[in-house]
Amino acid sequence: MNNFSSTTSVTSVIDRRKWLRQTAGLAAMLGLSRVTALGARPDESKDGSVQRAMIAITLDLEMSAQYPTKDQVHWNFEKGNLNEETKRYAVEAARRVKQAGGTLHFFVVGRVFEQENIDWLREIVAAGHPVGNHTYDHVNVKAQQPEDLQFRFRRAPWLIEGRTTHDVIVENIRLTTEAMKNRIDVSPAGFRTPGGFNNGLHDVPEIQQLLIDQGFRWVSSLYPSHRAAITDDATWNEVRADIVAQQQASQPFVYPSGLIEIPMSPISDVTAFRAHQWKLDQFLEAIQAAVSWTIEHRATFDFLAHPSCLYVTDPEFRTIDLICDLVNKSPDKAEFADLDHIADRVAKPK
Ligand SMILES: [Zn+2]
Repeated sequence: MNNFSSTTSVTSVIDRRKWLRQTAGLAAMLGLSRVTALGARPDESKDGSVQRAMIAITLDLEMSAQYPTKDQVHWNFEKGNLNEETKRYAVEAARRVKQAGGTLHFFVVGRVFEQENIDWLREIVAAGHPVGNHTYDHVNVKAQQPEDLQFRFRRAPWLIEGRTTHDVIVENIRLTTEAMKNRIDVSPAGFRTPGGFNNGLHDVPEIQQLLIDQGFRWVSSLYPSHRAAITDDATWNEVRADIVAQQQASQPFVYPSGLIEIPMSPISDVTAFRAHQWKLDQFLEAIQAAVSWTIEHRATFDFLAHPSCLYVTDPEFRTIDLICDLVNKSPDKAEFADLDHIADRVAKPK
């Protein structure tokens, strides 16, 4: 299914329908029959034409443990204390994506706004790039007890004394929205959970409601399980094939609560480089395969990475340039999209 020229549009539609049937079966297998999508949403307009693939490039603005050196774990306690290299990478990445014709969707932890100078982020916003809420301290929104919230509160529990775990989560999201309004004068463009969940927010309807109550219409919380451990050439081929296969499990859908889910598409930078010690060439090959599948199937891809990791692992912006090139090489089949635009399409299917 790699032949999608205009002369084979009928084949494309048939292939697309076949894929939709397959993903509907996958959704049923995963017990997702109550959600609207996972490919169940027809993406053909009334005149039978097939809409373009939507490719989002997203960066989470936070520090990452083990970068720039492997022994570095201090950042777990100061996720928002961005260093100069991270800020520079974010600004340059945004510039490149804009030059290629798209926008880059950022998610920021609220503690970033305690830094003295945030002109770099103002510059990003002024250039038209959306910025979403990633909680104040990078808290686990599914935590049931205080010690599961975040490293900072394990070391300094007095900061949240007397409050329930749920109240801390509510406050951590609300404070980030307030910090954004206060210092960059914008409301958050969506919400991304710290950490990804392979079942999204299916098991926590109260968190879906919390987000709706705080004015969010979409969340990016689901990161599907996939293989990533590489031992030899044979496993590399299987791992890459599994990452492509899991693109079907990372398509947007609507929860019964009405909240829209825009999953993160494997493989993320920290999963590849930090958890599994991939080489940059392997990461590029997997991303190329995943984005190509997405374009071929007119699906959605939500690239997830962190400038704090990429400035060390991909200092020449090769991954972001690669994704931009893939979109621009197929203007009739693919378009850049931020997550708001993806949510619009999910909310109003043609
Ligand atoms: Zn994060």
